Amino acid sequence: MKNSLVLASEKNLSSAKTTKIAIAKGDGIGPEIMRATLKIMEAAGANIETETMEIGEQVYLSGNSSGITEASWDAISRNKVILKAPITTPQGKGYKSLNVTLRKSLGLFANVRPVSALHPFVKTNFPNMDIVVIRENEEDLYAGIEHRQTEDVVQCLKLITRPGCEKIVRYAFEYAKAYNRKKVTCMVKDNIMKLTDGLFHTVFKEIAKEYPEIESNSQIIDIGSAKIAAAPENFDVIVTSNLYGDIISDIVAEIGGSVGMAGSANIGKNVAMFEAIHGSAPDIAGKKIANPSGLLNAATLMLAHIGQTEVADKIKNAWLTTLEDGIHTADVYQENISAKKVNTEEFADAIIERL
Ligand code: NAD
Repeated sequence: MKNSLVLASEKNLSSAKTTKIAIAKGDGIGPEIMRATLKIMEAAGANIETETMEIGEQVYLSGNSSGITEASWDAISRNKVILKAPITTPQGKGYKSLNVTLRKSLGLFANVRPVSALHPFVKTNFPNMDIVVIRENEEDLYAGIEHRQTEDVVQCLKLITRPGCEKIVRYAFEYAKAYNRKKVTCMVKDNIMKLTDGLFHTVFKEIAKEYPEIESNSQIIDIGSAKIAAAPENFDVIVTSNLYGDIISDIVAEIGGSVGMAGSANIGKNVAMFEAIHGSAPDIAGKKIANPSGLLNAATLMLAHIGQTEVADKIKNAWLTTLEDGIHTADVYQENISAKKVNTEEFADAIIERL
């Protein structure tokens, strides 16, 4: 399996010292998967000190429409590295998406989402898939510029900038170079959105010329997504704008085994935030059956980012052995292949036994 660890940001961090990280336990299944993840990291000897911060549903419901308190912003400024479980944004008007706020306020421009098949241990129709989706994280339709024009007409602005495109496209090629990836594919819809997606594509073609050793190509997002669903093994690194990246990374994770398996890194110049790609899964919250793998994989990306690569590898190997031994949570359990169906805590303990 290729090494899918994330590139460190421009900050130099050493593994010799304890790294302080801010953690958010999240909503729904968040506290269950965070508990499991922290237990595994502790058992593996991660050299971290955690500071818990309050964000999410309870903060929203207390009347704070941003979902984050001043004290939590301070915790982020102090720690610069965040491990975040998924949160629930209450339905209805007036609540801003905290995920979008965090990514934009902290300048977390690159969202890196690696997914590789674990065939035959985790069921997938695509045993050779190994994809990293690199999603632009601050612009596009997620910039939060949405207006009501009349009772019946609403508008959402798609914001694409040359500096934003340059940062994310260069990051994708640098990632490919650092991790010995062979190809970067750009996904856009510039046959329709000629200026916005056209700019992304133009910048991609310009920057691709600087990396002649890496194959590059581009696809229109609709047929490109269909091709991912049909033959994901033909893709390597994919770079795309915010909304497309959000959608295709969920598809990639799901066809790779389960949306519960994939972790992600949100990388900025000064701060980095690590989280599972899935949401707070209210349908299974409290049942203690959630798969903690997405958050655990995010935690291994975080450990690599802070220079604790050995601990990250130790956890990743124990996690892989656990899955290979057929110890599976309900979302990936299959008769005749899995040896045992386990709950969140049992899965964490099985990983710890294999460290
Ligand atoms: P979801 O990802 O929470 O759940 C989709 C499906 O996948 C559900 O059936 C769920 O049970 C299953 N699933 C997700 N994670 C799983 C895991 N670890 N183990 C086993 N099964 C898992 O998506 P949703 O239902 O659309 O969203 C629920 C809430 O999460 C919403 O409030 C949404 O805003 C929020 N959300 C938060 C984040 C985040 O904090 N980064 C991301 C996406 C959605």
